[in-house]
Amino acid sequence: MLRLFNTMSRKKEKFVPLEQGKVKMYTCGPTVWDYAHIGNFRTYVFQDLLRRWLEYRSYTVTQVMNLTDVDDRTIKASRERGVPLGVHTKQYIDAFFEHKRLLNIEEAEVYPRATEHVNEMVEFVKKLMEKGYAYRAEDGSIYYDISKFKDYGKLSKMRLYELKPGARVKVDTYEKEQAWDFALWKAWDETDGDVFWETEIGKGRPGWHLECSVMSMKYLGDTLDIHSGGVDLIFPHHENEIAQSEAVTGQRFVNYWLHGEYLMVEGERMAKHLGNYYTLKDLLDKGYNTRAVRYLLMSTHYRQQLNFTFDSLKAAEKAVERLNIFLERLTETNGKTAGQELKKLMTATRKDFETALDDDLNITKALASLFDFVRDVNRMIDQGEVNRKEAEAVRDMMMRFDRILAVMGEVKKELLPKDIEDLIQKRETAREAKDWKTADEIRQRIYEKGIILEDTATGVKWRRKS
Ligand SMILES: [Zn+2]
Repeated sequence: MLRLFNTMSRKKEKFVPLEQGKVKMYTCGPTVWDYAHIGNFRTYVFQDLLRRWLEYRSYTVTQVMNLTDVDDRTIKASRERGVPLGVHTKQYIDAFFEHKRLLNIEEAEVYPRATEHVNEMVEFVKKLMEKGYAYRAEDGSIYYDISKFKDYGKLSKMRLYELKPGARVKVDTYEKEQAWDFALWKAWDETDGDVFWETEIGKGRPGWHLECSVMSMKYLGDTLDIHSGGVDLIFPHHENEIAQSEAVTGQRFVNYWLHGEYLMVEGERMAKHLGNYYTLKDLLDKGYNTRAVRYLLMSTHYRQQLNFTFDSLKAAEKAVERLNIFLERLTETNGKTAGQELKKLMTATRKDFETALDDDLNITKALASLFDFVRDVNRMIDQGEVNRKEAEAVRDMMMRFDRILAVMGEVKKELLPKDIEDLIQKRETAREAKDWKTADEIRQRIYEKGIILEDTATGVKWRRKS
């Protein structure tokens, strides 16, 4: 039985979907104003673990992950750079999908973009106005009146005396101390430049909170099974989503709220504005591999803070290596039968692994039982036990676990630093000109940078020196 910690009740609850065998899941996606860093990806990896575990448990998952491609930050960044909003965000959308793929994060079913759903947002605001939950301010912006929604604060457990009815906030992010009426629709002003829509409710653009309410309900219906994001989204983002959605439908918006903790660096949250962040590319450029990064981000329980250090990344690399060396060893093992002992061990390991993940995705416990198993089977192999058939069965079980972990087997193609890509290109040109001397010199230079090239029938391949 799967149990998940619901932020709404602050308790682990038995997971029962609305429709048997199906899960409707919404995950707040990236705001594509800049590269997502590995702190952001920790949340996406946790959501991927959740998705994979639901699939392992035979649920059909419909996951919607939005792309916030218009908000305060995207507009500010594109204006500073002097390029149109769409040009600015495209670069970061592309990078996001590439990094997500490298981290083996499964594809969601739908990736709606805010800029493509403005009509629906306008309709939604009109409904809120008709029902008396929204009002227009002097500058033409439309605000949500939080005093009209009696359950306001139920997710973040804010006390009502902290509310300041009538006080308004136009920016997308603000602190809990400022529980004010928030902007649903922001009337155009000069800081928006050429980013605006001419609509029935005026010239302007949607607020960030509105975007998620509209896009989640469009694709998943009035009530979702699971909504997740980082803990920093509990207030105001998710609180405001509840207020908007439930005011319109009169129904419960979400049954299970799941929130992932921060990735920390030296006691502080990894964040762009603190300058203490790494992107996936930064780590690959330093010679780490994507599987180690995924393992590191995944292997601490999602409700615990994870402190990022290079030592822990190296340890993650070792752990992944141990699993893969074990897999390889299994392909060669040809000893005498290990008999009942191995059978019992496999049954117990599988049970422990599954029980742990059913308990609010207790990955730490699941991995502990897996590594105990690896140690025990390695010992059997050392003693000349484990025959071919048994080795195959163990391998199958490992691959089954890897449907969740996604760190074993074939390595995904990784990003190369730009200077090496350029060198490879130069070498290709030299080879085409049959200038073997230059080609060899370049190969040597690349080797000195830690990359080994191989010329194969299907083109040039590369791998990192171990
Ligand atoms: Zn959201």
